[in-house]
Amino acid sequence: MNRDRLKKLAADKRFIAGIYNYCDRWCQRCPQTSRCLNFFISEEEFSDPETHDIRNEAFWNKLSGILGETLELLRESAKKWGIELDTLGSIDDIENIKGKDVAAENHVICRAAKRYSELVEDWFRGRETLFFEIAATAREGVSLEEAFEVIRWYQYFIAAKVIRAIRGKIEEEEERCDEFPSDSDGSAKIALIAIDRSIGAWAVILHYHHLYAERVLEIISFLDRLRQAVEATFPNARSFIRPGFDRIDRNALVSDMES
Ligand code: SF4
Repeated sequence: MNRDRLKKLAADKRFIAGIYNYCDRWCQRCPQTSRCLNFFISEEEFSDPETHDIRNEAFWNKLSGILGETLELLRESAKKWGIELDTLGSIDDIENIKGKDVAAENHVICRAAKRYSELVEDWFRGRETLFFEIAATAREGVSLEEAFEVIRWYQYFIAAKVIRAIRGKIEEEEERCDEFPSDSDGSAKIALIAIDRSIGAWAVILHYHHLYAERVLEIISFLDRLRQAVEATFPNARSFIRPGFDRIDRNALVSDMES
């Protein structure tokens, strides 16, 4: 895809600006694919069977082609805004960034979120085959299979988003930026949504299978405490409006109707 096409698409009113910043990246289950530029580009660029294959050389070539065009676009925009990209990464900056990364990683809720990923891994180890056999027979409402899918999808996502939220908060506090809505609240919100959905999925497992009820309840309670800690750390997260997901974009609707 060339730069002009990329620019034209970026200005296309069909797409909601920044919708992919606070989503869960689960495009297969996303209700807003038609409004997402990210999705559109990946479908357009990787739609033929050959390029769909992640092992195919053509895939990586296309990806590096997009990267090249995007970097060019970035340089152009930086020049327009008077930003010197080359001077952004001084040694001090890098040390500072590393320090914040470490602080975020060591934050108590980040460690708890990572611990949750491990708990999921431990729980599934050795049980997954058995459960997938049972799952095939459970078909009412949310099936066991779907519950597994949800838990596995968010297993690492929660920690990644909690770390991103804490990292953003450190940055915002340092810059004394009290802008609302803040990016860290957006990350915390999608982490909370992932936690809520994971709790729901664990409850489905509990409903279908009582054999491991005690352990499942422990995990649910762990997640619930994590949820409360994230809410306490980010009191504005729940009210953060994610573009395209939490409020109907009336301007975009009007433009859809006009076109
Ligand atoms: S907004 Fe939806 S379609 Fe776009 S990247 Fe996120 S999950 Fe995928």
